[in-house]
Amino acid sequence: MSSVSFVPFKTYVVGGAVRDMLLGLPVKDRDHVVVGATPGQMQAQGFVPVGKDFPVFLHPETHEEYALARTERKIAPGYTGFAFHAAPEVSLEQDLQRRDLTINAIAIDSDGSLIDPCGGQSDLQKKIFRHVAPAFAEDPVRILRLARFAARFTEFRVAAETLALMQQMVQAGEVDALVPERVWQELARGMMETQPSRMFAVLRDCGALARILPELDALAIDQQVYKQLMSAVDGAARLHHALAIRFAVLLQDVPPGEAAAAAICARLKVPKEVRDLALMAAREQRLIAGAAAMDAAAIVSLLERCDAFRKPARFLDCLTVVQCKYGELGDAGKTHAPLLATALSAAQAVPAGQLAAAVSAQYSDQLSTRIPQAIQAARIAAVAQALQ
Ligand code: ATP
Ligand code: MG
Repeated sequence: MSSVSFVPFKTYVVGGAVRDMLLGLPVKDRDHVVVGATPGQMQAQGFVPVGKDFPVFLHPETHEEYALARTERKIAPGYTGFAFHAAPEVSLEQDLQRRDLTINAIAIDSDGSLIDPCGGQSDLQKKIFRHVAPAFAEDPVRILRLARFAARFTEFRVAAETLALMQQMVQAGEVDALVPERVWQELARGMMETQPSRMFAVLRDCGALARILPELDALAIDQQVYKQLMSAVDGAARLHHALAIRFAVLLQDVPPGEAAAAAICARLKVPKEVRDLALMAAREQRLIAGAAAMDAAAIVSLLERCDAFRKPARFLDCLTVVQCKYGELGDAGKTHAPLLATALSAAQAVPAGQLAAAVSAQYSDQLSTRIPQAIQAARIAAVAQALQ
């Protein structure tokens, strides 16, 4: 800190770090606001500029983020259509006014005093998500952020006036201006929270779900089906499963089958690994859930289709996805995962290399069909034996 101890400006910790501290939660990363400085003064103190659109710097030693206090003004549709004004005369209070929620608009100064002009502490106590100002409506990302906070802070409720504002934003088409990458980024983060169903509930309540995931919204016509799906997704979160598993669980029924899942993944530009598991699970879930009735040949063909010999971990993940869904239903499908995992181990134990060598020694023609056939037959025999 020595290089910045005689700074001519004031800094405050703001946002999530203050909120989490007041909630008694561990603080991950601290964001700072700087009041009274120019970019030149910051750099003279050794801060490293990193902001593309507005002046943000990294502290030379702690590498924490320091943003110059700024105001913003909407100049074009969409969440990127902002003009920023960062200047030494912008006050802390002005900077807090442009923030999304009151609970995210509390600052703390270097003496530990709280600056809370938006009523954030009161809303933390009442467990309420409330927007700071009508300018909330200028950025639809805030809807996604609020929804994802709902999945994390599971006892919080959305203020009636904030919900009404979000509904207006959706009706005005604001959500349609979001780029898929940003929607996916926020959805993925919300899926990784404690209770992802609460994110979808907020998105449904304000009408945004019908715009970003209409397939899921349509599913809610049947409350029973929707509730089961949401409890399967929450179950996957309770078991701390990875994003790919949680997302694949979500796409099991929207509507069933690979094509609908593929369309959603393409629209949201879902990353390849996440997409591949979701599509595999959507395609094979019924078969996997009914594995007890499959013979060895059908199981080996399932393993081949799923590329389970080259990617065994992904196949086991696929079993977990189906388990999350059918486990919640208390279905007979509960037994499929151990059964198929046993089958996979047995089939993996077949010495494919040795078999190939033996076939090559015995025959001189049609090796490209004889070798795979021999390996497949040996795998079927091994699975049949293992399942006896
Ligand atoms: P997390 O714990 O997920 O990091 P956070 O509240 O710290 O939550 P950040 O994305 O780190 O979220 O943003 C830091 C702060 O910046 C927020 O607390 C909020 O005050 C403000 N902020 C971030 N994104 C927006 C936005 N789209 N609109 C308004 N304010 C925002
Ligand atoms: Mg943060």
